Amino acid sequence: MTKRVWNFSAGPGVLPLPVLEEAQRDLLALPEVGMSVLEISHRSEWFDAILDETERNLRQLLNIPEGYHVLFLQGGASLQFAMVPMNLLGDGSADYIVSGSWGEKAFQEAQKLGKARLAWNGKAERYTRVPSPNELELDPNARYVHFTSNETIQGVEFQSEPPVGEVPLVCDMSSDFLSRPVDIGRYALLYAGAQKNAGPAGVTVVIVRDDLLERLPDNLPTMLDYRVQAQNRSVYNTPPVFAIYIVMLVSRWLLNTIGGLERMHQINREKASLLYDAIDRSEGFYQGHAHPECRSLMNVTWRLPNEELEKEFLKEAQANDLYELKGHRSVGGCRASIYNAMPIEGVRALQEFMLDFARRKA
Ligand SMILES: *Cc1c(COP(=O)(O)O)cnc(C)c1O
Repeated sequence: MTKRVWNFSAGPGVLPLPVLEEAQRDLLALPEVGMSVLEISHRSEWFDAILDETERNLRQLLNIPEGYHVLFLQGGASLQFAMVPMNLLGDGSADYIVSGSWGEKAFQEAQKLGKARLAWNGKAERYTRVPSPNELELDPNARYVHFTSNETIQGVEFQSEPPVGEVPLVCDMSSDFLSRPVDIGRYALLYAGAQKNAGPAGVTVVIVRDDLLERLPDNLPTMLDYRVQAQNRSVYNTPPVFAIYIVMLVSRWLLNTIGGLERMHQINREKASLLYDAIDRSEGFYQGHAHPECRSLMNVTWRLPNEELEKEFLKEAQANDLYELKGHRSVGGCRASIYNAMPIEGVRALQEFMLDFARRKA
């Protein structure tokens, strides 16, 4: 096998090796089907079974209560920035809690489509934290409140849902979906592009409460109408068959190899603490971007004393098989994305490299 490096990419991100191996084995012919998953009809009973199992696994992993649809859509999380207001806003107003770059994009898109207001904005503080409940300026008549559970670029994560009372809660969960248990019952709708933590690029999982589907406008473009997608079980048109198949394998891996989301969360906490320890023990050589109480378990962001050292760090890291550690251009510095599929050995290798680099350069 070609050598694999430690891949800390923010997305598309690392996938579990057993999933890739199985996909490789099955690529020419699915067992008992005799055709590649790249070739089968989305109307076939085999794909039906793939769709069924993917949904069933997600329902089991997340303990999704009755009364929710699970949809597999295209267009990425970015299309959800538009679909959410198109479907849910009507002539009302929605509240946006903006704790990073993705939340800002969602807010801007909603403003194009109707009335959206800021319930909180962390931009003036360079998106280094999430709001405390008493900072939220919520409109009790809002059609929904939107927030981003984990801001992938800044590495800022909500530790619990913002309290929004009776107003429907909508969440962009792209980069921490399936990283921990979630009380789905608290959400009206949540969405996640698969390529961070659940699969490859090309499919977006949407979990939506059924009662929302009863109040949608009638004039929506067919493909952008949640109701149509729900009534047609995500196969109104040709869905991303291969991407859904990989999400199925990832969900199987989470259930059978990891043992569920409680265990996954525990492993993720362990992995993240290795890197935050390296930051905290460096006596200021590494500066974490996020406030400690809002630190992301998925995307660890930090800076070095200057850009020269950052360049050197990234170059040396790569020479040690530690790849894709450059921070997003809007934040600078470094970012290690340590999604579910990043083994703890990879995080240990990065931690050791960080400690060693700081010893030599501080
Ligand atoms: C990556 C990401 C997006 C954008 O996803 P696309 O699938 O590229 O549209 C949106 N929100 C969050 C939180 C992300 O991490």
